Amino acid sequence: MTIPATPRTVETPAAPTAADTPGTAPDRYAVIGHPVAHSRSPAIHARFAAATSQRIDYGRIDAAPEDFVRIVRDFFATGGCGLNVTLPHKEAAARLADRLTDRARLAGAVNTLARQPDGTLLGDNTDGAGLMADLARLGIRVAGARVLVLGAGGATRGILGPLLDAAPAQLVVANRTASRAQALAAEFGEGPCAVQGCGLDALGPLLVAGPFDLVLHATSLGLQGELPPLPQALVAPAGAAYDLGYAKPDTPFVRWARAQGVIRAEQGFGMLIEQAAESFRLWRGVRPDTTALHDGFA
Ligand code: NAP
Repeated sequence: MTIPATPRTVETPAAPTAADTPGTAPDRYAVIGHPVAHSRSPAIHARFAAATSQRIDYGRIDAAPEDFVRIVRDFFATGGCGLNVTLPHKEAAARLADRLTDRARLAGAVNTLARQPDGTLLGDNTDGAGLMADLARLGIRVAGARVLVLGAGGATRGILGPLLDAAPAQLVVANRTASRAQALAAEFGEGPCAVQGCGLDALGPLLVAGPFDLVLHATSLGLQGELPPLPQALVAPAGAAYDLGYAKPDTPFVRWARAQGVIRAEQGFGMLIEQAAESFRLWRGVRPDTTALHDGFA
């Protein structure tokens, strides 16, 4: 796939689908993934619903890859209104959706499914918008920076387009399976900043030019409390390390970055909140204020 020439815009959000009438069942939403028990999305959407005075029921669905399509179809066939899709299903969700927003098409990955009034499924990807909003909130600059993304799964697909739009000086994707990173680089490689794809074991030579200004960790290893093997001096001490994963009190990648002397080491709670707000907007037609959650959620 090559980058389509269409602008990376978001389609008009769907109107709210529910009657917020006491006595009727609340509209049903859920996060679907495997694993999914760790997900904080139910708590976040409950806070958004309370803050915007809407009645929704938001649950968790654990679906193994072989069951994903059947479970999603059942969910919507029985009145479900929307799903957040998490690992490892984002690419499968893009194939399942009847229609994709421009940013989901660019990503080839979907983290938000929304049932439309005609019963079809719209697929969107709010991960990139969520990440960029959080980087802006934290004052982490992408423009002109040497940026490295670790991992080439569904999350990386969602963030590459917005990262490129922010005009980094260099964008490298490094993955355990080098061919997957190289395929992503080929997909996103057009434009003023070429994306480079490589294996995790090929990072060393890239460091001859100096450490990266921003390193984003987007492998799923953190969910097992682990970290891929990483070379020393990967992140500039005055640069930033950002883990898309999140854990209390911190993730293995954040601990590793701090041990490397990186002062700016952040985890992905803020991205989670911001991507959720975008999903909520698509489903309910109103974007909740995220400030209170950033102040008091993690
Ligand atoms: P995914 O599609 O399942 O991709 C998993 C990635 O992890 C692949 O690049 C995979 O490499 C790599 N990986 C798995 N096991 C590995 C190992 N033992 N050693 C090295 N690399 C390994 O998952 P995803 O959807 O991209 O999610 C990745 C992470 O981002 C998860 O922790 C997820 O929770 C987080 N995330 C957070 C947010 C947020 O809002 N904060 C949003 C999206 C995702 P291979 O290609 O070699 O298998």
